[in-house]
Amino acid sequence: MPLPRERSPRAGMAELVDAADSKSVALIRRVGSIPSPGTTQSMNFCSNCGSRLVLKVPQDDFLPRYVCENCGTIHYQNPKIVVGCVPVYEDRILICKRGIEPRLGFWTICGGFMENGETLEEGAAREALEEAQVDVEIGSLLVIANIRHAHQIHVFFRARMRTAHFGITHESPEVKLVTEDEIPWGELAFPSTEFALRSLIADRRAGVERHHIAEMQRRPA
Ligand code: ZN
Repeated sequence: MPLPRERSPRAGMAELVDAADSKSVALIRRVGSIPSPGTTQSMNFCSNCGSRLVLKVPQDDFLPRYVCENCGTIHYQNPKIVVGCVPVYEDRILICKRGIEPRLGFWTICGGFMENGETLEEGAAREALEEAQVDVEIGSLLVIANIRHAHQIHVFFRARMRTAHFGITHESPEVKLVTEDEIPWGELAFPSTEFALRSLIADRRAGVERHHIAEMQRRPA
């Protein structure tokens, strides 16, 4: 039975409905009250054998996946982890201007996609070195930000700069240490950037080091 194709904020799910088999459709309806569970990015070919993929619910699963019916590979898509830190030297905070898209020209804290084979803390320190040439000692967990619409989790730590040295890189054409009053709140790159900085400052004023967990909303266009 053909299903009506709707364009809505749930368009990703409508595309799944179009492509899914009848079992998938029943399951999509059952989980329909959950905001876009298992939303997938389109995939055409198997990275293992090159065959065309089929979108279907694998046996004993509950969400549609891209499945290769030639070699049997199931191509799961799961959130990516962005890891970073807020380097601090004495009472000043290190921020970087983005030299790459997205949000080129806006200010951010050191962070990027976690690599295989490293811990969260190692990834946070690596990003600080790569983006701002800073040598940091990673401290306590500051923020976990759920970015549902982008399929990402952002994890940021507090960090202490071991020396005052920092510098520009191809990712960061401008890097600077700022006081709390100098943070360019209107020119921050991402909601998670602002969440991390506001959490850091609130805790410093309260004399505590808490974990802050929240879901970030899509930035207004
Ligand atoms: Zn395959």
